[in-house]
Amino acid sequence: MTNVADRQIPEYLNYVGPGWRDILLRTHAELVAVLPNYQVVQVKEKYGMLDVNLGGFVDPVTGALGLSRELGTRVSAILTAAREESLRTCEVCGEPGTETGQAWIKTLCPTHAQPC
Ligand SMILES: [Zn+2]
Repeated sequence: MTNVADRQIPEYLNYVGPGWRDILLRTHAELVAVLPNYQVVQVKEKYGMLDVNLGGFVDPVTGALGLSRELGTRVSAILTAAREESLRTCEVCGEPGTETGQAWIKTLCPTHAQPC
């Protein structure tokens, strides 16, 4: 069996820009608090948002596959908060940013939104 820590957010920090690292680490801390054995399926940037996909939920209390409604609600609230924060945070440097739509949508601060 692989180590659960191999499939958690700290192993996925490089999948998005360094400006979102703090959001990811905070999201990890919040997830571990409610669901210590959570598993990441994918961490990516999508439409200027940080997108964290989890899978294989095992309820920490009952050991059953799947989450109680209450726990599921708390987990989605954590992931929603991360998405919303990423929409206000430059993916490159972590400064306040907004969505910029050039060839594709990215969330960037004014400095990093300048064309190269
Ligand atoms: Zn920036």
